Parts: sequence; structure tokens; C-alpha cells
Amino acid sequence: MRRIMVFDTTLRDGVHSPGVALDTEQRLQIAHRLARLGVDAIEAGFPASGPADLEAVGRIAREVRGPMIKALARARAGDVELAWQAVRDARRPAITIFVPTSDIQIEHVLGSSREDVLERTAAAIAKARSLVEEVEFSPMDATRADAGFLADVVATAIDQGASIVSVPDTVGYATPDEFGDLLRRLREAVPTLGGVVLGVHCHNDLGLAVANSLAGVLAGARSVECTVNGLGARAGNTSLEEFVMLLDTRGETLGARTGVNTAEILATSRLVSELTGYAVQYNKAIVGRNAFAHATAQAVSAVRRSPGTYEIMDPAAIGLDDRGPLLDRGSSREALRAALQTLGVAVAGSDLDAAFARFQDVAARKRHLTALDLELLVIAPLNL
Ligand code: MN
Repeated sequence: MRRIMVFDTTLRDGVHSPGVALDTEQRLQIAHRLARLGVDAIEAGFPASGPADLEAVGRIAREVRGPMIKALARARAGDVELAWQAVRDARRPAITIFVPTSDIQIEHVLGSSREDVLERTAAAIAKARSLVEEVEFSPMDATRADAGFLADVVATAIDQGASIVSVPDTVGYATPDEFGDLLRRLREAVPTLGGVVLGVHCHNDLGLAVANSLAGVLAGARSVECTVNGLGARAGNTSLEEFVMLLDTRGETLGARTGVNTAEILATSRLVSELTGYAVQYNKAIVGRNAFAHATAQAVSAVRRSPGTYEIMDPAAIGLDDRGPLLDRGSSREALRAALQTLGVAVAGSDLDAAFARFQDVAARKRHLTALDLELLVIAPLNL
């Protein structure tokens, strides 16, 4: 089985969703969750975009252990320096450099030329590589770029020391067959790609982000960039939970697996939804509230007799809580204390006051609270 790395970009591409504004503490909370989920890398932000990202990436680099911590930079010396400043304290720091590669973006985003893109790429990658071991290169809008030019710019990045090349379908335009072919042809045209990590980064404008990521994996990609709940610019990115459970459920057929701890998926999804204010669509695969709900009496009783009749995944595999509701909006402070105790969290004094205030706030919006709700909505904000 090939081990596919999951590179999370919830805190970078994901927070590009309109209306999402996370403070540093909230970003840290998500980053700690992602580490517990077992992702291989966290793209923590874009330090040159402003002081909020610079500070948050720095805190995540210093405090979150486990995954590689990446910062995004344009192909400019100033961006690369800020990215390095932000990630330098991580155990495994990395810098991702992106540059437009399609003619339409070279002209209208960068206002320059193919030659200029090659020069900027070489200079930025060389500078990043002088600071840090792991440098990722992202040829933006690769799926609409001239194939020969794309090969030239990728070869240039590798020559200058890029260790990861993540091919993006920036505008969500490719079909799975096209995307797989693009990767295969790129591997043929750039033999040095065999010596670095080839990855993919897909967008969901046509609902194909997960399908295109799978096509990329089948064409040789070893890393897939994902976001929790599929958050991201416009229609979002490859949904982490869908991609991970796809390999978890069909891994034997596909010959690939991830290292993600799937039992943490639902808790991570709920936390990100709560903090971003982005509700998860009811019928969303894996993490939607109806994803394991059966509508007909016939299906319900069949699943009770034999889950495999209608369920291709065990709900417990994603951490779906079957312990039922523990509390409701009428529950007392003492009932909350006792319920938290059963979850292994001893809370008293001002911590209990804060937890109870939080509980009442959530209970006003949600009829019943399960163990999972308490863990996410009451315990996690206390940093216990
Ligand atoms: Mn993107």
C-alpha cells in the first residue's frame, strides 16, 4: 500500500472563505486538533498577507508538534523572509512558494511574462532553500498553463532545490482524466520530479476536487492538500474527511492509505464549523448530520440487523458519538459538572462557571448536547 500524505490547508486556503475571521487562539485550537487528527503537514497561513497571519503562523510553529508546519509566500524575497520568520521555530518548518503559470494569470495577475515567471521562481526557491530544508513549489493555475512552459517552470524549481511540487487545479476546471494525464505527462517531461514529492491541490468549482485528487494519486501523487469540511476560496478545496475516508474505505482497491486517525474526523469537523461559522451541509458525505441517517423504516431495521446492508463505513470510524444526549438546555450547573466528570474532565470554581456559561449559550441553540458536543463546545474553549 502506498502511504499518501495529507497536507492540511484549512488555516490558509480554508480561511479564504468569505466572512471567516479567526483570531490567533482559534487558529491554534484548530492546529492542535489537526495534529491530533494526524495530518502530515499544516499550511498555517500566509505571513505576508498581514500581521494576523504572521503572528498565528509563529505561534503554531512554536506550539504545535507533530505535523510539518508550512507558510505560504509569493515568489518575492520579502514574502520568503516573512514566511521564514514565521515558521523558523517549528521542528519541521517548510515554505510554499506559488507563482502563476497560465498565460491568462501571468498577464492579468502578475502583469509580466513567462521569462519573468522563470526568473522569479528560480530566485525565490533558491532564497527559500538557503533558509529551510523543505521548500514546496506550487505552479498556480497549472491545469490551464501551456504544458511545455509548465514543465520548464517545474524543472527550474526542482533545479533550485524545491523538495515538494504540488500541482494545483487552482480554478477547479480539470476533469479527472485530464488531471491524471497532466501529472503523467509532467513526470515524463521532468525526470527530476522522480526525486521530489509530487502532490496535488484541487478546487471544487465543478464538484470534482476529491475525484481529481484521487486521479492525481493514481497518477503518482504522494501528497494531497485538503481542508476540513472542504472549506476554501469559492466552492472550496478537496474535503479532508471525504478524501481520507475514500482511501480508508476503498484503500485495498486503490492501493493507497493515509496516516490520519479517522476517529478524530467528526470532532475536527465540528470544531472548524463552530469556529468559522460555516455550517456543514446536512447531506454532506462523511460529516453531514444525515451522512449515517437512514430515511426509511426498512433501511433502519436492516441496518440494525446487519450494518453492511446500507452502510459502507462504520460510523464509529469517524468518531460518531453513539452515547446519546447527556444534557439539555434545562440541565443544572451540577449536572454539567457531573457530565464533564464522566468524560474525565474535573472542573470546579471559575472554570466551572466559564464552562456553564458556555454550555448555556450552546444549549440555547441546540436542544440536546452529546459527549462530543461537550468536548468541543464546552471543554475545548477552556483549553483544559
Ligand atoms: Mn487553493
